[in-house]
This record gives sequence, structure tokens and C-alpha cells, in this order.
Amino acid sequence: MAKISINIKQGSLSKSEPVLGIDLGTTNSLVAWVPPGERDPQILESSEGRLTPSVLYFPENQAEPLVGKMAWDALESQPERCVRSVKRLLGKSAQDVQKHWGYRLVETSEEALVQVEVDGRYYDPIHLSSLILKELKRKAEGAFGQSVSKAVITVPAYFNDSQRQATRDAGKLAGLEVLRIVNEPTAASLAYGLNIGAESRTILVYDLGGGTFDVSILHLEDGVFEVLATHGDTALGGDDLDLRIAQWWMQQHSLEGIDNGIRLQHMAERAKMQLSQDADSPFSVAFNADVALELNYAKLCELAEPWMQTTWKSVDRALALSDLVETDIDEVVLVGGSTRFPEIARQLAKRFDHCRVNSEVNPDEVVALGAAIEADVLAGNRTDVLLLDVTPLSLGIETAGNLMDVIIPRNSKIPTRLAREYTTSVDGQVNLKIAVYQGERESVLHNRKLGEFVLSGIPAMPAGLPKIQISFAIDANGLLQVSAKELRSGMEQSIEVKPQYGLTDSEVEQRLLESMQHAQNDLEERMLIEAQNEAQQILYATERFLEKHAQHLSTEEIHITRQRCDELRGLLSQGDRNRLLASIEALNEVTKPFAERIMDIAVSEALKGKKL
Ligand code: ADP
Ligand code: MG
Repeated sequence: MAKISINIKQGSLSKSEPVLGIDLGTTNSLVAWVPPGERDPQILESSEGRLTPSVLYFPENQAEPLVGKMAWDALESQPERCVRSVKRLLGKSAQDVQKHWGYRLVETSEEALVQVEVDGRYYDPIHLSSLILKELKRKAEGAFGQSVSKAVITVPAYFNDSQRQATRDAGKLAGLEVLRIVNEPTAASLAYGLNIGAESRTILVYDLGGGTFDVSILHLEDGVFEVLATHGDTALGGDDLDLRIAQWWMQQHSLEGIDNGIRLQHMAERAKMQLSQDADSPFSVAFNADVALELNYAKLCELAEPWMQTTWKSVDRALALSDLVETDIDEVVLVGGSTRFPEIARQLAKRFDHCRVNSEVNPDEVVALGAAIEADVLAGNRTDVLLLDVTPLSLGIETAGNLMDVIIPRNSKIPTRLAREYTTSVDGQVNLKIAVYQGERESVLHNRKLGEFVLSGIPAMPAGLPKIQISFAIDANGLLQVSAKELRSGMEQSIEVKPQYGLTDSEVEQRLLESMQHAQNDLEERMLIEAQNEAQQILYATERFLEKHAQHLSTEEIHITRQRCDELRGLLSQGDRNRLLASIEALNEVTKPFAERIMDIAVSEALKGKKL
């Protein structure tokens, strides 16, 4: 297998300044670090414990919110002043978010980033995430007795560009320089990788947290981690199981009308955790004077079944994407608090019965521990670890007729840089609009636009002559930089793509599915559009020719050329590719001798000129 090594910049970090490894979780966030001179990462502990609930509480008449355990405690009594699961909102527009979390979501417009309203004030998810990061930074500084300014932050592998960018921005707002955004399963495998040594292994990382699910397949060799494939859902986690239990209780006791959804969900979570630890003791708690809420392990499994099924489908996908079958996997690694529900390990062990299903490292902490190792690598303290990742969707630009021209195919390893050459379609064209898209469909209309820019100042030349090189570079954080350069003149323009809003993972999956279902139609449509483009170019060239050189043609020749042009123009919008191609051919037949004749005339005129 080919290996790519990444040149890890050592930077100008002072060795004494610790770099934090941060797991910015939907439900819980954690900080880990590698103490100076040591190799093994540690979780940072504060008086509140190791986990910091990713919850914010905005008390009345107080400018700054409380973050963490105290905010979590306020969830039940004052849900309208609490904000949780911010990570699910990161980089998303209002239309992407359907769930009700007890706080108010505000949409300024369909495509704008969603905002949260608390007490008449508006907060965007980047700001809210930054407040969580600030709290983690504060705790770390308290523990170290010195300031910290640098961190590695993890995100689900399935986070798209805008979600990664949003995470990076949140770090910046919190006063942290984000040295790298690392995929959570990659971080987890780093934490495990230490124990594995130099052996070559293929690992499946199953990460089910509070609000996100990720499955990744990684190849480990000589300290190099290569992500072969990833699949997942940024809107699936333990919260959903809690909700399912709460809904079942609501139905069972006709509690639909009550305004106690959050309390019910908290009780559901407690029931789930208790049964996960001790399946034999059924859960029971008084909801009010009349209603006792009960749950036993068998019912929990029944409620959890569809929820687990969704994750098995992602496992299938990830295997298919990496062209592997179960027996190719050497080890399964469990990550995320929800994998403490024993059914998950049990069913995975049944399916992967030839290998180990590993949960040796605490599943809540393994991601932060891996982030701390990566932080240590970036701090220049170790050079034995390399990371490779892949892109989840294809990236490309729009070409004539709304066609998607892929520059970086999906599942390409990153970082990567790829370039392609394009040209103009009209004589004297001095500007070229470059629109960047993400997706698998042949037409950009079905894909997602990431941004656009204009390359201006192209020297006026006949159509087809300018050489415009468009390069796509994805850095190690998964962020895309697009640049365009006219090679003859050296004119250059570039953008860092910072999309307006993100896609949910089910949308990513939906797009993949659609691209497969529509593959045949899309291909036919593409071929038609290409024929139409060709026809338009020939019509354009012929008309220019008639304007310039009519004096060298006979009336009859002009007449037949015009006639063929009209025929071709008439077919342009009819959608019959074969007739279009035949008509192009017919026009070509008429005009072919003209070019030669004009050439002869030009040559003889040039010779005449010479004689003078
Ligand atoms: P995230 O990565 O989304 O921040 P975590 O990995 O911290 O989440 O996992 C949090 C989720 O784990 C919550 O939904 C919580 O209910 C669930 N969880 C924690 N402990 C247990 C347990 N013992 N049994 C079942 N679920 C658990
Ligand atoms: Mg997590």
C-alpha cells in the first residue's frame, strides 16, 4: 500500500507552553494534555470532575453564562435559560435544524446560520461554542498555573467544511490558536495506536456519543494512520435514545400535554445509564404523585433497536466504501459514552466475531487523549505519528451547461492538491466566474455550492486560447483553498472556501444515494449538455467566421451555411442528442473547406506582402 507522509510543521512553539487536546463534544467536552517530558496523555481534572457538560446557562441579570456542571443542573428547572447540543447547530442554517431543544432558535433567513435566543439576546453557535472552549481554557490555566493559547480540537469525521471552519472560528473567539482540527475517530485510534506498535492493522472505530455518530475504518502501519473511509450521522446519539424513552413514557401515561419534556429526558437518561450498568435491576422513579416511570432492560433494548439499526447501516457503508468485508477488520474500537450500553458491544462482537471489540480506554475520554497526542506531535515533542484523512464528498467547479467537473473525488486522501486546466468559450473573454461545488451529481444544480469568485484581468484572446489552471488544495484540517491562474499572463485569484451553512450528514448520505439512483439519467443529461455546448461553440465560431470572411464565400455557400446553422439552433433546446450530433456533423461538413480556403488566401496574401 502506498504511503504518504505529511510534513508536520514544527512551528515556533515554546516547549514550556502546553498545547491542549480538546474534545469539544455535543454532550460533554474534555481537555487532555501530555505533561512535559512524558509520553502518555492525561485528562485534565477540575473540582467538577473530568467531563465538562457542553451546556450553557444564562442566569437572569448576568452578562456571562455559566458553563458546565452548574449549567447542566439548571437544565431541569430553567430549560428556557439553558443551551445544550450547540455542536449540532454549528455551521448550520435554520432549515437544517428541526429538533426542539427547549430553547428558541431564530432564523434570520433560510440560508443564514441559525441563532439561539435567550432572554431577548441572540447568540450564534460559534459564539456559544467559544464560551465552552473558554471555560475549558480557564480550567486548564487554573490547573497549570500558566496561560495557554494553543489547542488541537476534534470534530466528527463527517463534519463538512463549514462545520470545521465554525469550530476553528470558535477556538479563535475563545483566544485559542487552533493548530489542527482532527477527526474524532482518528484521535481515538491515536490513543489506541500507542498500544499497537508497528504491526499493520485495519481498525473499525465505532463512535456513538450524545449527539453524533461516526464509523471510520483506519489502516495503521509503522505509526502511520490512514483513514480508509468514514460514514456517520451528526444527528444521531444517546440523546435520541433518551428522547425515544421519554416519548414512550409520554404515550404510556398520556403525558403529551405536559411541559416537562426536558425532565422526562433527564429521567430517561438516568434509566438508560442505570440499566446499562445493571441490567437486572429495573428502573423506577416517581414522576409525580400519580405517575411512576418504569423501564426494564428488555424494553430498553426494544426501544434502542431502530436506533442501533441506523448505526449498523453506517457500518455497512463504511465497509463498502473501503472495499472491505468484516473479516478484513483486525480490531473494533468503541468510542463515546453511548457505547456503554452493552447491547452495542454485544451485537458488534457477534458481527465481528473473529476479532477483538475493544473498549479498554474509557470511551468518554479516548478522543481527548488522542487529541493530546496530536497536540504533542504538533508541539514538536514527537515525530513518530502521522495522520492521513479522506474527503467525504467530491469537490469541483461548474462548467458550461451547469455541469459539475470534479477536481477532487470523494474519499481522496488529505491533505491534497489537484489542478486542472480550463479555457474560455468566447473570444475576448476577460473574466471567468469560478463556482465551487460539493457533491456527487453530474449537474451542479443538484450539488451544494460552497462559494464563487471571479478571475478577472485575463488578456483578451480568441476563445480556447487562454490556459486557466484551477487548483484545489485541502489542508490537513480539511479546509479547501481554490485558486485560478491564467498561465499565459500569470493573472491569479484565490479564495478560502467558507461556506454559508452546512449539510447534515443525512443530507450528505441523501446526496450519495441520489447520485447512485440518478447515475444513468445524470450521465445521459451530461452527454446531452456536452453536445449542446459543442453546438453552441460551433455556432458561435461559424457566425464569427461569416462576419469576418463572407467576401471569400459564394452566395450559395453563405446560404447553405446559414441554413445548417438555423437547423442546429432549432435543435439546441429539443433534448435529442443524436439529432444534435448529426446536425453538428452536417454543419462541419459544409464549413470544413472554408477554413482551408481562408488559410490559402491568408498564406498567399502574406506571400504577396513579402514580394512588396
Ligand atoms: P459526545 O461525544 O456527544 O459529547 P459522550 O461521548 O460524552 O458524548 O457521550 C455522551 C452520551 O453517552 C450521552 O448520551 C449519555 O447518555 C451516554 N452515556 C453515558 N454513560 C452511559 C451509560 N453508562 N450507558 C449508556 N449511555 C451512557
Ligand atoms: Mg464524542
